[in-house]
Amino acid sequence: MGAANFKENAHKAMHDSDLQSELRKLAGGFSQARVRAAADVPEFDALRDAARDIKNHTLEHIDYYLERFERKVIENGGKVHWCRTAEEARETILGLCRDLGAKTVTKGKSMIAEEIMLNDHLEKNGIEPVETDLGEYIIQLRHETPSHIIAPAIHVTTEGVAKAFREHHKDLDADRPLTEPRAMLAEARTILRRRFLEADVGITGANFLIAETGSSVIVTNEGNGDLTQTLPKAHIVLASLEKVVPTLEDLSTMLRVLARSATGQEMSVYTTVSTGPRRAEDLDGPGEYHVVLLDNGRSAMIGGEFQDMLRCIRCGACMNNCPVYHQIGGHAYGWVYPGPMGVVLTPALIGIDEAKLLPNASTLCGKCEEVCPVRIPLPKMMRHWREREFERHLEPNTARYGLKAWTWLATRPRLYRMATAVAVGFLGGLGRRAGRFRTLPFAGGWTSVRDMPAPEGGTFQQQWAARQRKARAR
Ligand code: SF4
Repeated sequence: MGAANFKENAHKAMHDSDLQSELRKLAGGFSQARVRAAADVPEFDALRDAARDIKNHTLEHIDYYLERFERKVIENGGKVHWCRTAEEARETILGLCRDLGAKTVTKGKSMIAEEIMLNDHLEKNGIEPVETDLGEYIIQLRHETPSHIIAPAIHVTTEGVAKAFREHHKDLDADRPLTEPRAMLAEARTILRRRFLEADVGITGANFLIAETGSSVIVTNEGNGDLTQTLPKAHIVLASLEKVVPTLEDLSTMLRVLARSATGQEMSVYTTVSTGPRRAEDLDGPGEYHVVLLDNGRSAMIGGEFQDMLRCIRCGACMNNCPVYHQIGGHAYGWVYPGPMGVVLTPALIGIDEAKLLPNASTLCGKCEEVCPVRIPLPKMMRHWREREFERHLEPNTARYGLKAWTWLATRPRLYRMATAVAVGFLGGLGRRAGRFRTLPFAGGWTSVRDMPAPEGGTFQQQWAARQRKARAR
């Protein structure tokens, strides 16, 4: 696929009937639950302001908070591994797994692991990664990538899940029914319980890192994060550097906006705070605790016009409310991060020359910014990327010359008024009888899926002027 092929990917997604039927289910679910959850908390907007301010403050002093976090991790008996690139992070994790003689690793959901393509690297080196989040597990069996940051298998039909289980679960009784979600869950649980016990290393992501205590925090609804990090010999946390927040008090603010924005829950079912390896008095826990801290282009965003994007807490609200995501799903965006946040973050991490036209994957309706719990100005940043796109000649010539012609005309108001009046009059006359056009030259993209209504009653400016005259005459 690839982000550079966004247009082709989107076209394919819109003609995938299974995907379209799954996307229709998304329309109400998460976004309506968010509205209800936000309405239950009168101070929700104040909480969003506070969450934004915490992230802004941390980003302003990120060197201080990351060093503080590292000192605390070491005091607690753990170790921090600083990794500049995806390759460094992959090699660090592979090295840790080899030192521990690991054959199998369990993984709690981590988008950063997707970003650095960790599973492929471990597999190539003889270590079996097992995803333990149910959605991630399903797409791992299907050799796919997540299509949503909090619901990675949202594109998969029930039949698709059953098919994947029948293909990969060798002991699965052919007569066992797999039509109900509950039956599928029971089947996945049977397999995953065994895998949890076999694992030598557990790798999780982190929703937050706490500088004050050196802790990592993961929120899940399945409890798989807890088993991933407490049962094996070692727990490796893979996190990008902007996940740090100063204190536990700040964490409580972030948690109050995260679950409500993501799934409409007051809190996720499990919030697990891990602080170092098992201590002598602990009943369980890993013998070793490592934090792999990844930069991968983020430090270059600090101080620039895309710094605000580093406030993102990966709640998914922007994609849950995005009309473009609702039409094409997550894979069409071509890289790890879909939806409006991906449209901004992907070019920042892989470069606009690789992402190409991805910043155009938005109607700029503004809904993403309206629902973002940390108030990231996503549409503004999309416009910045579109400017870069134009400067670098990435768009097709038709769009480029069309925009240039439009700019020329729109900056000459008198000529613009005359030209639009002629065009509207001509089209109005031509389409008067049918009331619409089925085809139009240079507008095939529009008329191939919908009719173009014939204009009536003059241009907007003519109608506005007439209205003003009428108001003055009264
Ligand atoms: S950009 Fe905002 S709404 Fe989108 S995932 Fe990030 S925090 Fe959530």
